[in-house]
Amino acid sequence: MLTPDQTERYLRHIVLKEMGAQGQQALLAARVVIVGAGGLGGPVLSYLAAAGVGRIAIVDDDAVELSNLQRQIHFQTEDVGAGKVERAAASARAINPTIEIEPVAARLDDANASDIIAGADLVIDGVDSFEARYALNRACMGARVPLLSGAIGRFDGVIGLFAPYEGDLPCYGCFMPGAPPREEVLNCAEEGVLGPVAGVVGTMMALEAVKRLAGIGPSLVGHLLLYEGLSNTARRVRLRRDPQCPHCAHVGRAHSTGSG
Ligand SMILES: [Zn+2]
Repeated sequence: MLTPDQTERYLRHIVLKEMGAQGQQALLAARVVIVGAGGLGGPVLSYLAAAGVGRIAIVDDDAVELSNLQRQIHFQTEDVGAGKVERAAASARAINPTIEIEPVAARLDDANASDIIAGADLVIDGVDSFEARYALNRACMGARVPLLSGAIGRFDGVIGLFAPYEGDLPCYGCFMPGAPPREEVLNCAEEGVLGPVAGVVGTMMALEAVKRLAGIGPSLVGHLLLYEGLSNTARRVRLRRDPQCPHCAHVGRAHSTGSG
């Protein structure tokens, strides 16, 4: 049962017939781990906190830098030098003090990934290194937790939701089998990124997260969402499992009708 305060806070969700009180209760019961408190993790955290996701962990070991503020609008100028997860958690608590926000000041790697994602209903990848992405992919497949991954560079972004064990479906490694050559890596520091692209793509990730947790809408699993900022357009494309993918070959899969 939602309390009167919860009913008022989440009223615009509850009146959506696809969501209703049942969908809102699913959000309140959910635990989400957001890895990366930067340009993508920031808008995801703000929207999931506002939406009433009951327990949210935010994981990052960086401090806020002056050059982050051009796109990471969950931080203030006075936050420069402070730990990102502490400031991000404070921002999210100010949006919604009725949920649990857990700041985790750590760099995710193979050694700690399984502990960090334990108990999550959904893991969100807004990290800036392929090492961390592959560690998250491994840990999420091991725990059979869906992984919502996003990346941005210059004017563009890409989002994927990976749950390979749910059918004959791809993992993150089927999409990106190995770290590309350094000169091809989309990297905000070296290539630049237009500030609002982070907000658009991070907000698209938040939308996919809320839909997944509330069980509404067609799933992004088995697809990629490609966003092009210069034309301001997005398209959804099918992503097939790579039968040769070394990352997910061992994963036990549910029988699928192939609808993806
Ligand atoms: Zn794979």
